Amino acid sequence: MLTLHGTGVSSGIAIGKAYVLHRERPEVPEYVLPKHLLEDEVQRFRVAVESAREQLTHIREHIPRSAPAEIASIIDTHLLILQDKMISEAPTELIRNRQYNAEWALRTQGDQLISVFEQMEDPYLRNRKVDVSQVADRVLRILLAAEEEHEQISGALEGQIVIANDLSPADTVLLKHNKVAAFITNVGGPISHTAILARNLGIPALVAVHNATRYVRDGEELIVDGKLGVLIVAPEKQVITEYKQRQKEIALLRRELAMLTQSHTVTRDGTPIALLANIELPDDIKAVSKVAAAGVGLYRTEFLFMNRPDLPDEDEQFRAYVKVVKALAGKPVTIRTLDLGADKSADGAALPHDKISTNPALGLRAVRLCLHDASLFRPQLRAILRASAYGDVRMMIPMLSNLDELFRVLDLVQEMEAELARAGQKFNPDMPIGGMIEVPAAAIASDLFAPHLDFMSIGTNDLIQYTLAIDRVDDAVSYLYDPLHPSVLRLIAMTIRAGKAAGIPVAMCGEMAGDTRYTRLLLGLGLSEFSMHPSGLLPVKKIVLESELCELERHAEEVLAARDLRELHNLVERMNNGH
Ligand code: PEP
Ligand code: MG
Repeated sequence: MLTLHGTGVSSGIAIGKAYVLHRERPEVPEYVLPKHLLEDEVQRFRVAVESAREQLTHIREHIPRSAPAEIASIIDTHLLILQDKMISEAPTELIRNRQYNAEWALRTQGDQLISVFEQMEDPYLRNRKVDVSQVADRVLRILLAAEEEHEQISGALEGQIVIANDLSPADTVLLKHNKVAAFITNVGGPISHTAILARNLGIPALVAVHNATRYVRDGEELIVDGKLGVLIVAPEKQVITEYKQRQKEIALLRRELAMLTQSHTVTRDGTPIALLANIELPDDIKAVSKVAAAGVGLYRTEFLFMNRPDLPDEDEQFRAYVKVVKALAGKPVTIRTLDLGADKSADGAALPHDKISTNPALGLRAVRLCLHDASLFRPQLRAILRASAYGDVRMMIPMLSNLDELFRVLDLVQEMEAELARAGQKFNPDMPIGGMIEVPAAAIASDLFAPHLDFMSIGTNDLIQYTLAIDRVDDAVSYLYDPLHPSVLRLIAMTIRAGKAAGIPVAMCGEMAGDTRYTRLLLGLGLSEFSMHPSGLLPVKKIVLESELCELERHAEEVLAARDLRELHNLVERMNNGH
């Protein structure tokens, strides 16, 4: 039995078999062949290409029905690359002319192709190098007889615990469709988008379990404790029994919480509090209705752009938004405009920051990217406006850092409204437009933003990242992540005050809003709208129902005034323990 520690990013306990995703590049042997073996080697290469084609076709035919349509296009792209002469024929010349073994010939040709793609001006084509390398590696593994049946996330993972070096947000979406029991990565921070998705999935997950892919073997029995951040490899029988008991206790607690679903969310002294849900894809609305959220406070639209080689056009976006709006039947749906860039990339979107990606989180991300590339933004604005005719749609702009950006977006919205009106398309001319306060500059100047916005929503994930200068995906600095840092609390308090002064609502949609350790403090600071992953909603609701607001307000003032960090933490703890 071996115990490994990491950062628990989504609580719960999973017991199951390991599925280790090996994505390292295979080692390639290099040798010169005698002339009389060259034709056999060419034949060996051809057979491997044919097997790769069969594998891809098999995967293509077994994509789960619930998976997004885009997955099929990725496989199609791989099939096309495999058919291309540059991959399927050029290596045979290297075998014949230079007497290379098949693996070496393929690696040489593949690397050359990749460097050609890397130099391409067009970011879309440049991104294709990933596909070329994946296809070449697939053939290589077959040649090396080391091909694993499902090294890509492509099904047959149900009930298993996935272990990977890292998972992109796009990978994590695929996990969603494969009913995995839990996942673990070697690297990653607690507020990375991958971690956020795990919480939305409601499955236990750990990140920063260093070397997990080395210590765990495929098929090994594992226990994952998502709350404590513990991974137990090959547990003894008695430990399994203890954890099964804890699983039962957690299930019981969940059933108790479920009884709160239909009750009104008001504090003991009668103040209504709105608890809304964060979603990534239209399918997430099932989880939203299960917990009877008051609406969607953050719809991360960029996920519609992932795991596909192309971009969704206006109509496809419109259909996705309307699906959510209709399902919410009159409840508010806050659609955030595209927040691509940094750790969220889309194969089909040309992300100019790729060219200067030394610091992508500070680069052309979110609204900056949209204003830079109006061809990306205009169809989305039109789609959101058109969806606004079907319910209570609100539009939210991410990453605002100065007022000029806001005015440029508002101008574009007006322009799109005029276009839609001319075309006789329906939309709500009074659709509320809000801004995310997630860059310190916007929080400090929130009193200047507020008069021009219909609402503000505090994005603590980025606000903390930028205020404390810690990359949210870098586990080496995740120990500095601290929502209770006085600077963070001051910025939150400032924003809530600015909203009140301007008479507009202020919500919070970062992970802090769904973390019960901060619920009382945030209530005390005057926050009345919380948006979070659906699985976090009922625990937060329980706390709201038990809270006396005026008492919390008094304590929150003491917290803001605390001059000593230990004192601050003690005060918050005392609030949480009801003193
Ligand atoms: C945030 O930054 O807090 C937020 C809600 O947005 P995202 O996590 O998608 O960056
Ligand atoms: Mg953000």
